[in-house]
Amino acid sequence: MTMPPYTKGLHRVGTHTYAYLQPDGSWGLSNSGLVVDEGEGLLVDTLFTLALTEELRSAIAARLPGVEITTVVNTHDDGDHTFGNQLFADRTIIGSAAMAAHLAASPSADYFRALIERAVGGEAPGALETFVRERMGSFDLSGIEMTPPNSTFAGRREVGVGRQRVHLIQVGPAHTEGDVLVEVPADGVLFTGDILFAGSHPVIHSGPVGRWIEACELIEGMAVETVVPGHGPVTGKPAVRRLRGYLERVAEHAERGLRAGLSVSEAAGRFPLEEYADWTDPERIVLNIGAVYRELGAEDGDFAELFVQTAEFWAGRR
Ligand SMILES: [Zn+2]
Repeated sequence: MTMPPYTKGLHRVGTHTYAYLQPDGSWGLSNSGLVVDEGEGLLVDTLFTLALTEELRSAIAARLPGVEITTVVNTHDDGDHTFGNQLFADRTIIGSAAMAAHLAASPSADYFRALIERAVGGEAPGALETFVRERMGSFDLSGIEMTPPNSTFAGRREVGVGRQRVHLIQVGPAHTEGDVLVEVPADGVLFTGDILFAGSHPVIHSGPVGRWIEACELIEGMAVETVVPGHGPVTGKPAVRRLRGYLERVAEHAERGLRAGLSVSEAAGRFPLEEYADWTDPERIVLNIGAVYRELGAEDGDFAELFVQTAEFWAGRR
């Protein structure tokens, strides 16, 4: 299978599988996936806003008239993969039990909407407001009602779509508390959710980073050729290997920084970002080093505080 171009919209990646891509894959611009057989459709993730999710639904209806989406699988609880769930509230929405439990406690649409409104309307914005305005200011999060999965599982689960079998494999906690991979064995296609970011720095929300590294190794050993990341272009295993190398490096760098008594921002400033110059969103190194600090028991690992430092790091590099 040749890789589809990285352009917005629905792209066929296998006999029964499609990827819906949203370039450039930065903050809030996630990918979605679709498995289709015998008129049934399984959607992998919804999008960050209702309008974007409507657009996704229209693109599917235009390209595949007559296909009915019967099932949604959420790969994890981040808003850019779940906020559109309410458009499918009367369908089966599947997620890991850990993901569903965490969704209730994670920053909701209201939190992000308030953050964006404050950033867009603020008169004397600080680094955080400027960052949010420029990177997320275009997203309209109004009208979103949190719609968690109505069907949960732990470990592994198989789901049918027509005559196709789809494998759900829980690998979280890693990027988030309950990450799930979605494998379509007949097509050799894997939807990774945010276990893979392609072309951008990943974000470590929960960790432990060691489990994320193990998830990469699991993928590297799977019989799949085509990998659809949570963000970025459709790719293959080399991108997973590269991300694993990055995570190993971040873990090692953070451990050394903590031992040397560096703050998260100081350690981030010394990370060899030039080796990932082809990746967008370098400011995420602050969140990632902070996550490892948190894992190692350091005090300065609170997400809201790290997000401010991330914005300051971004402002300092402009
Ligand atoms: Zn995402």
